Amino acid sequence: MRQLGWKGADHFGISLHNAIVMPYIWHYGTEEQKQRWLPAMGRGEAIGFFGLTEPQGGSDPNTMLTHARREGDEWVLNGKKRWIGLATIASVGVIWAKDEEGVVRGFVVPTDTPGFKATAIDNKLSMRASLQTEIELTEMRLPLDAMLPEARGLSAPFKCLNEARYGIAWGVMGAARSCLEAAVNRAQTRTVYGELIGGKQLIQGQLADMFVEYEKGLLLALHLGRLKDAGKLSYGQISVGKLNNVREAIAIASKCRAMLGGDGITSEFPVMRHMANLESVRTYEGTDEVHQLVIGRELTGIAAF
Ligand SMILES: Cc1cc2nc3c(=O)[nH]c(=O)nc-3n(C[C@H](O)[C@H](O)[C@H](O)COP(=O)(O)OP(=O)(O)OC[C@H]3O[C@@H](n4cnc5c(N)ncnc54)[C@H](O)[C@@H]3O)c2cc1C
Repeated sequence: MRQLGWKGADHFGISLHNAIVMPYIWHYGTEEQKQRWLPAMGRGEAIGFFGLTEPQGGSDPNTMLTHARREGDEWVLNGKKRWIGLATIASVGVIWAKDEEGVVRGFVVPTDTPGFKATAIDNKLSMRASLQTEIELTEMRLPLDAMLPEARGLSAPFKCLNEARYGIAWGVMGAARSCLEAAVNRAQTRTVYGELIGGKQLIQGQLADMFVEYEKGLLLALHLGRLKDAGKLSYGQISVGKLNNVREAIAIASKCRAMLGGDGITSEFPVMRHMANLESVRTYEGTDEVHQLVIGRELTGIAAF
């Protein structure tokens, strides 16, 4: 197994590895798969990726075209994946593909398997410290036991994604706090019309409103955490946390950016970076619209996807 550095694996990559890929192997893998991969992954010697999204769209993974056919005692996989974190530096990953009956199944794929090719997406303007890739699978042959035996259908990939979505509700509040801290510091030091901007009522009103949303977001995340500990956290509640906290973090970052004036668009402050990165967070682990639809389904009992 390759000894790998974590270059390209930012906090997003580490949470992808820890909160998504390892739990899949842990929940759905065979004892042999667990023994082969989890200790090395836990030590950071083997990096993992999660391959669900495809070039034709990620919100509706049921449209997936990647497929697995059985030939003797092998699986043969063909297809493409897009936006997959870490795959160019990973040793292993879980790839989702439809079997011959059209059922979505997970496969544990060592990246040195012939027919596996990953290419970095290098034109991103958001999450630039993080590594996303495109994957091409061409007649990639895997042994029969590469399939995660306990994962059948789309509920399997969604199970661990929900863990990550819950984590996002906390993470984005960290970005919001960083932006707020920068804006408060600036308000205490920057003078306009002969007065500190922090002494202007319009500025204090904005700072107070942002702080209220930040505190509400933190309390929401805490509430979800307590429900989770009690085993009572529903998919709809996770969607409330992800949708609200990302939306409010984006609004806070944008207002703080404006409060910093021209300097706010420079790398002197962390705010513009958070703004750009939060745009990715808005999209991955379910877009705003997907979470609205999850909440809508819970409220009405009607799936309107
Ligand atoms: C930085 C980053 C990292 C990522 N990492 C991974 C990874 O490691 N592994 C992985 O598998 N994927 C990953 N993704 C992919 C991510 O999960 C998808 O981008 C996401 O699911 C959205 O899919 P899409 O980009 O194809 O948008 P689309 O599905 O094409 O959606 C386009 C627009 O249509 C809207 N929409 C979709 N359905 C509906 C509907 N029913 N009604 C109304 N509007 C709708 C969406 O909200 C969106 O605004 C990552 C993405 C990014 C940006």
